[in-house]
Amino acid sequence: MSDLTNLTELTIKEAARLLRLRSFSAAELVTAHAERIERLDRRVKAFLRFTPELWEKQAEEADRRIARGDLGPLVGIPMAVKDVLCVRGVETTAGSRILSGFRPPYTGTAVSRLFAAGAVMLGVTNCDEFAMGSSTENSGYHPTHNPWDLDRVPGGSSGGSAAAVAAGEAMIALGTDTGGSIRQPAALCGVVGMKPTYGRVSRYGLIAFASSLDQIGPFTRSVEDAAIVLDAMAGHDPLDATSSNRPNDVLRDFDAGVKGLRLGVPREYYDVEGIEPGVKTAIDMAIKALREAGAEIVDVTLPHTDYGLAAYYIIAPAECSSNLARFDGVRYGLCQDAQNITEAYERTRRKGFGTEVRRRVMLGTYALSSGYYDAYYLKAQKVRTLIKRDFDAAFEKCDAIISATSPTVAFPLGSRTQNPLSMYLCDVLTLGGNLAGLPGISVPCGMTDEVLPVGLQVLAPQWREDVALRVARAYEVTSGVKAGVAPIE
Ligand code: GLN
Repeated sequence: MSDLTNLTELTIKEAARLLRLRSFSAAELVTAHAERIERLDRRVKAFLRFTPELWEKQAEEADRRIARGDLGPLVGIPMAVKDVLCVRGVETTAGSRILSGFRPPYTGTAVSRLFAAGAVMLGVTNCDEFAMGSSTENSGYHPTHNPWDLDRVPGGSSGGSAAAVAAGEAMIALGTDTGGSIRQPAALCGVVGMKPTYGRVSRYGLIAFASSLDQIGPFTRSVEDAAIVLDAMAGHDPLDATSSNRPNDVLRDFDAGVKGLRLGVPREYYDVEGIEPGVKTAIDMAIKALREAGAEIVDVTLPHTDYGLAAYYIIAPAECSSNLARFDGVRYGLCQDAQNITEAYERTRRKGFGTEVRRRVMLGTYALSSGYYDAYYLKAQKVRTLIKRDFDAAFEKCDAIISATSPTVAFPLGSRTQNPLSMYLCDVLTLGGNLAGLPGISVPCGMTDEVLPVGLQVLAPQWREDVALRVARAYEVTSGVKAGVAPIE
């Protein structure tokens, strides 16, 4: 195939069909992406590193599989991987200087399942350091730019992954979502992003931030593509005791539409403080479209919403302070000339961690310290239970919950870095899903007047990814709003 430009705008589904028809080869498909990255990523900066040896080998293998008649939907599909997922031999740093040069001796389960399914790895995407942030500006390397407006953030923490898919630099990107880090950047970059139920995808090989909240999930340019990737990653893994073997029929009733489904609109989310008028208009139109498609729209309430942010910003830093204690510099140290072990720890951690990570470690250590544990950590866990109960009660009245994914569209680079609280507010509509362990998806729902993407969030009960996908799919079909590649050329 001579014209390789359009190959970077396809969905997985379309690409898989054309690969099978021999319209182009997996090698050509990956080359088209590599060329586009070469042309554009100087401006977007979605990637931290590239893996040409890997993609050449994997694309060749994919072409052999296709020649043998392998019909797997991911064979030959180019993929980017967030810098928190270990890939054997590929430098993996969690966006942090402290891990610079670290090459994991093994590949995590989610990635290795996608490799086995035939995906081709392009490289490693940028993220906030240890996935702490909402703009990718906390990366220890460089910020990433939103392909829809290069002066704005792509969201975070999986901002590199979202930007790569939005820029047509990858067909799939993997991210992780602890408080919103897949859904929020998906919304801000105009692509689909899905956080599975806690336990759906193995976390083995994920550099942990907050282990009771972290989940791995996909970014794609269609809802169906997200389902395909999720299907290939999901399922029990003996290496992660929290992973589950529940049935994962994610494509069940995928195209059944929303007729007869009850969609709950939580008033606390609908009128959340700081929601921008352009976002609200887009969500109103989405609600109307879903109603016209046959859904019954019902009012629901999540009364403890106001306490979610506070609980999350105790629990996540507490878990982070404990998880990050392992970075002591003994094996991968930045500091070789300390006089004693304490000084070595201190110097390594001061030099290796950025401001936000240090802030979280201190907050978390404080919240877990004796004397404050009950007042902060235990209290936050109780609030977490109340939030979970809010969702249980809401799901008695509806099959899924819909809201904006983020109260704002992509904001200018630098505009929130001086005020951590304003950054934390980005998560107010997403972190409830993590605290309650629910599956959630963000699907593009149009643009504001400034041509910035808005995302519609669909949350479903635990293990009901099929419902979240079905609603998102129905919205995608009836609205005609498709996740496209941003016009950056
Ligand atoms: N923005 C949130 C935080 O900084 C969520 C991050 C995430 O989901 N990894 O903690």
